[in-house]
This record gives sequence, C-alpha cells and structure tokens, in this order.
Amino acid sequence: MTEFSDHAAVSLSKVPRLSKSKFLSGLQCHKRLYLEVHHPSLATKPDAATQAMFDMGTEVGELARSRFAGGTLVTAGYRQSEAALAQTAALIQDLTVPAIFEAAFFYGGVLVRADILERIQAAEGQSSGWRLIEVKSSTKVKDVHLEDLAVQSEVILGTGLTLVSVCLMHINTGYEYRDGPIDLTELFAIQDLSEAVAQRRASVPERLAEMNRVLLQAQPPAIEPDQHCHTPYDCPFWEHCTKDKPARWIHYLPGSKQVVGQLTQQGVTTIDEIPAGTKLSMVQRRVKEDVEWVSAKLGPVLKAVQYPVHHLDFETVMLAVPRFSETRPYQALPVQWSNHIEQATGELRHEEFLHKDVSDPRKVLAEALLESLGERGSICVYSPYERSILEQLAAAIPSLKPALSRIIGRLWDLFPIIRDHYYHPAFGGSYSIKSVLPAIVPSLAYDDLAIKEGGHAASQYYRMVFIETDWVERATIEEALLRYCARDTLAMVELRRALKEKAGMKGE
Ligand code: SF4
Repeated sequence: MTEFSDHAAVSLSKVPRLSKSKFLSGLQCHKRLYLEVHHPSLATKPDAATQAMFDMGTEVGELARSRFAGGTLVTAGYRQSEAALAQTAALIQDLTVPAIFEAAFFYGGVLVRADILERIQAAEGQSSGWRLIEVKSSTKVKDVHLEDLAVQSEVILGTGLTLVSVCLMHINTGYEYRDGPIDLTELFAIQDLSEAVAQRRASVPERLAEMNRVLLQAQPPAIEPDQHCHTPYDCPFWEHCTKDKPARWIHYLPGSKQVVGQLTQQGVTTIDEIPAGTKLSMVQRRVKEDVEWVSAKLGPVLKAVQYPVHHLDFETVMLAVPRFSETRPYQALPVQWSNHIEQATGELRHEEFLHKDVSDPRKVLAEALLESLGERGSICVYSPYERSILEQLAAAIPSLKPALSRIIGRLWDLFPIIRDHYYHPAFGGSYSIKSVLPAIVPSLAYDDLAIKEGGHAASQYYRMVFIETDWVERATIEEALLRYCARDTLAMVELRRALKEKAGMKGE
C-alpha cells in the first residue's frame, strides 16, 4: 500500500505517459500509436453508429457496477490523472470500501483506470487482496481483452497491490429476461482469466519499451496498411494511410484476404496486375474483369415475381440490456418497416410503420405489417434478414404464427438474383444494396439522407426512444428514420425496374 501511495505522488508531467488504450493501439500497429500521440487530428472521427456503441458500453459499465453494492466511484475524470490517483489511494486505505470503480494507477510510464476493483477479505491465515474486473459489452472473451487485462495487471501489480484474480465481466446472451428487475447475476458472466493474463503480462514491459522507442522517433514508422488495420478494431487512420493508393489497389479485392496476402507477397499492387491463372472466387473474377455482365437467365428469374409486388424492409435495435419480457441481450427487435407496393400497371403505393415509445414493439408492429401485406403478391426483400425477423416474430407471438408463416412463404429475395445474374464494375465486388443502388440507379442513392445505413438507424432509434427528451430532436430523428427505411424499399422497386431493362424486358 505504501508503495502505491508513494507512486501516486510522482509528478506525471515529467514522465512520458501511455494509457491502456494507447498500449492496445500500439499492439495493433506502431504507426497507429505514433499518430495517436503525435498527430491525432489525422484520425477520422467516429461515426454516429460507433459513438452510439460507445454510449451503450457506458450504460453496460454503469449497470455492471450495481452488482457490487457499496462500491465507490473515483469521480476525477480522465484528464484529472493526479486527482484520480489521489482519490484511488485514499479509497484503497479505507477498509470500509468493498469495491472501487474507475480506480487509477500509474506505473512504468502507463496510466490505467480499472473498471472494477473488488476488495477480497482474507480468510484466516490467507493474505487479502483485490479482484480486478474489466467490464465489456461484448458477448465473449476476445484476445484483445487478455491484452487489456495484461497491461492493467502489470501496472496495478507494479504499484504494490496484490491481485487475487483477474476477470472479465461480459454480457451473457443466454439470459432471457422476464418482467421485473434485471437479474444482474444472469445478465453478466464473470470469467476468471488469471492464468491466461499472467502469460501475456510477461511480455508487457518489453512491448512498452519498444513503443516508447517508436514514440521518440522524428517520423512515424513506415508501416504499409493491410489486414492488420482492421483487427481487432478498424483503425481511425485508415483514410489517412490509404489516401494515395490507386483506385484498383489490391486490398480492395473483396473476399478471401488470404489471396490478397499471397498476391501482395508476390509484389502485386493493383487488381489489374493479378496474374492470369490465379485462383479467384466468382466475385473476385468479376472485379478483376471489371465489365458489366448480364446473365441470360436474368429475365426469366425476374418474371417469376407475382403482382402486387410488396417491397419490405425492417429496421431493428439490439439492446445489450433487454427491456421486454422473453427477450435476450442483443436480440434483434424489429421497430420499423417500410412497404412499397407495386401493381402490375406500375402504380406505386407506400405504407410504413415506426414504433415510437418504450413499450414492446413486436405485436403492434406485426399486426400492422400483416394488414399492409394482405394475402396476395410476392414480398421482395434484399437479404435473408427479413425472413429471420419474421420467423422470430412468429415464434414470439403464437396467435399470429399462421399468418406470419404465410408471409414467409411469399418472400422473394432480390439479393441472390443480382449476385448470380448481374454485375456492374461500380459494385466494386460488393452486393450490398448501398453499393448496388448507385451503380444501377445513379439517380437514387443515399447521399441526400441524414441516416445512410442500418447501424446509424439503430443508434438513432435508440436515442429517439430511450434517451432524447427534446421533442424537436425526436421529431427530426423520426423523420430521418422514416425517410431512410422508405429509401431502402424504393431502392428495390427501382432496382427491379432497371434490371428488367438490362434483361431486355422493357414494358413487361
Ligand atoms: S491504417 Fe493501418 S498502417 Fe495506418 S496507422 Fe492504422 S493500422 Fe497502422
């Protein structure tokens, strides 16, 4: 204890300092660490969906703390390191404090904040100590969590504290919520990772020394971007590092990254340089050929659709902490749908639904959907996702199961039709509707929308229903959500029309 208190008094301003997150950045890539420390403005700002994930992580962290009754939070913020260290030292000395949240430690040039540090009272004849618990909103232990705990325990042990065990607390997706208060012992799983973390810890001092050497250089290390830029996290300097790469850079080849790795080793830098005879997947071949392609079967396949054609898309939210009875953490819950209905004459009608309050959306959403879809016509979707949501609704609402099962029988998926029968160079190897639409129907993209992709829609929905109190802001989000979902289904209408023309079916 004394050692820790002495350490807290060290003036941080004179010591080059790394944080836990900088250490993890350095493990991913020394250049990333260098840029984060010396040129942070070159990073791309996190998008709204990423920010919302951080926010959900904060909510999970706060809930996790409530499992440790009597625990005390170190209130000094991340920029108030000296105050945080002093508060931590005082709480450690106070034997009435059973757990400390956000405890700060500084050792070996590294500052860490520990999510939860639980005081373990020793049984007679045994030494007392602490249980270090890192809280993650993920659903399982990942490699990066071991590294995270390794650097934390290296620092904490360095200050003289005894760690009895080192654990990860994460979300248990096997937990099914029933009405009433959340069962925190079920929602969170705690895994003792002491042994695995001890093995990683051995290499921490050497890695830190290496990182400090890199940081003292006048220039960032010359590291080429490749697969390591996306594992374990997408690097925020990707745009900066790839800004001079050619449009047909070899790393833009979709599919197996093993192939890209082998080609890079052979000195291939662009897709056009891929040697003839290289084993490529069908999609990779199309990207290399880079020409428009229409299968002879496209027309007959498109003709199989039955009018009136409904074009259906769901938006969902996945709550880390379930709120509705008989749902699990991160279960996809439908909260919105859009349906564009096209008659054989070409006449088009639009219907939509958005659940706007904190109640369970599923039954009311399903009933409105059944009314909109009626009993006739194909239901065009763009991925197997809508099917999985309908199956889930059928299982959750027995009274609607027969009607929902009939709906499932009418689904008609446009995604495999395009994948197997058409290619445009502007797809760039991606068959996502966000790539396909601007290539086939350039006049109708997503650029003009406030919400442009599903992750952002989910995070904005969460904000609108569970966080935002300002009604003007709520109304703005509502409008953006409706426009986004409607664009997804209008996209399918226009894609079908454009593909019919490509297949020579004008007017059919
Ligand atoms: S984009 Fe890749 S190479 Fe560039 S800093 Fe990030 S991880 Fe390193």
